[in-house]
Amino acid sequence: MKEMPPILSDATVSPPDARGRFGAYGGRFVPETLIPALDELERSWKEARADPRYREELTELLRTYAGRPTPLFRADRLAKALGLSGRVYLKREDLLHTGAHKLNNTLGQALLAKRMGKRRVIAETGAGQHGVATATVCALLGLECIVYMGTEDVRRQSPNVVRMKLLGAEVRSVDAGSRTLKDAMNEAIRDWVTNVRTTYYCIGSAAGPHPYPVMVRELQKIIGEEVAEQIAGAEGRLPDAVVACVGGGSNAIGALHRFVREPSVTLYGVEAAGHGLESGKHGASLAKGRPGVLHGSRSYVLQTEDGQIAEAHSISAGLDYPGVGPELSHLRDQGRLTVLSATDTEALQAFQTLARSEGILCALESAHAIAALPRVRGGLIVVNLSGRGDKDLGTVIEALK
Ligand SMILES: *Cc1c(COP(=O)(O)O)cnc(C)c1O
Repeated sequence: MKEMPPILSDATVSPPDARGRFGAYGGRFVPETLIPALDELERSWKEARADPRYREELTELLRTYAGRPTPLFRADRLAKALGLSGRVYLKREDLLHTGAHKLNNTLGQALLAKRMGKRRVIAETGAGQHGVATATVCALLGLECIVYMGTEDVRRQSPNVVRMKLLGAEVRSVDAGSRTLKDAMNEAIRDWVTNVRTTYYCIGSAAGPHPYPVMVRELQKIIGEEVAEQIAGAEGRLPDAVVACVGGGSNAIGALHRFVREPSVTLYGVEAAGHGLESGKHGASLAKGRPGVLHGSRSYVLQTEDGQIAEAHSISAGLDYPGVGPELSHLRDQGRLTVLSATDTEALQAFQTLARSEGILCALESAHAIAALPRVRGGLIVVNLSGRGDKDLGTVIEALK
């Protein structure tokens, strides 16, 4: 049987300080009424993390339900098609149940909710991917699930709405503001404030107020820990570079965290350049944002001149987010994270190149990481393939017309 490294290993580098700060980023910028709920969450998370029964239950589900460990695949034909001289390996998170890395996080959080005696789980979703991952684990564990989603997103992402409903979740459309993710976020927070005793708020990326960024990081870091073991088996050494796309930052910090203290490994985060970094229509918070507060914590945020949150744009719904988690913000400032970007057009091209060279239809988010490969240095490169592309076929067909 395939082995997976221990879940929630103690190999934790760069922890946040006691207030949940990663350097100048992170913390808690929330209504006063939520502080006790965040304190309770932090306490419960620390207990669960240290409890062998919680780890065993999570490990067992990751193995038998989600499909961990995911394979590490040597993509020689892709390397050739891109004209690269070195070797490229793909970490196949697209093969995880529900088709992306998001389940690593929602499984861990739903088990925590159950442990805390909270049988009502709420989430907010933009593209619907986190909503589906949350609805999935709530069905699995018999928890009530309510997903907030802007009416505009409900319209654009109707297949995911159908999926959530089939999984037994209630989808509440939010008809306020721009009717997208940030409005859904506000509604979810309002719900949490009102129902905090019975309700668990499941956040989908390594973002939000402390302790969410560190908790999500801990649940996702298994990706990089598996990579380290698998590449040691295949090549007898660490990779020269690890590459991941960056939306909120959960698949990236999950893939990169294991290597932060390995100076020989260059860490790359690839953001959505949309129509181009100078077009104003992109999702490149680390490259083009400024420090600010979004979703309860301080990080790089896309803002207008007068400090309003700017709209993000990307062909991939999962990268269409105006912020990024605090830990990646800090790694960027330290110079430890190299920030690259890929445009919509480049991502579409990379999507097709990967399909034809290796027979893999990847998510458009992950295609950004593939697109950046010609700009990545090193003879041994690992790319995190965060998800599969079935969800994006409509977008791809439309864009290729
Ligand atoms: C949601 C999603 C992303 C972006 O989210 P991160 O938190 O940045 O990982 C990337 N890829 C896929 C396939 C996704 O579903």
